[in-house]
Amino acid sequence: MAYSYDPENIFAKILRGEIPNSTVLETDHALAFHDIAPAAPDHVLVIPKGPYVSYDHFASEASDAEIVGYTRAIGEVCKMLGVDLGHEGEGFRLIANTGRNGVQDVPHLHVHILAGRPLGPMIKKA
Ligand code: 5GP
Repeated sequence: MAYSYDPENIFAKILRGEIPNSTVLETDHALAFHDIAPAAPDHVLVIPKGPYVSYDHFASEASDAEIVGYTRAIGEVCKMLGVDLGHEGEGFRLIANTGRNGVQDVPHLHVHILAGRPLGPMIKKA
């Protein structure tokens, strides 16, 4: 089955400039901005500029340039936040909620970068 992408999702609107955002970094292939409802002292979302619903969609259909550009942007934001291990930062968590079971609210690929305090266990046991 083919992937389907809804161009009216809120991050598509942010990419088109229809909704404002607090930009951390913009590159040819990625946009990073502060989450509107932060769950940690640092909470930045990084999205690819292309129309991909999920990481698996992106990994299978994005160009090499998009994949490299997006991945590098994630690393760059971690450096900008001062949380990367290359500069003895305190670390962070990357989350890509995906689909129904992953409890993804916005159907445009995004990773959450969460940092700024110890984040506790990854998930609660069911
Ligand atoms: P998901 O549950 O899809 O992984 O996460 C969606 C995230 O997008 C949530 O953390 C939510 O707070 C954030 N979000 C939803 N709408 C907006 C918005 O209009 N602007 C920003 N900056 N973040 C948003």
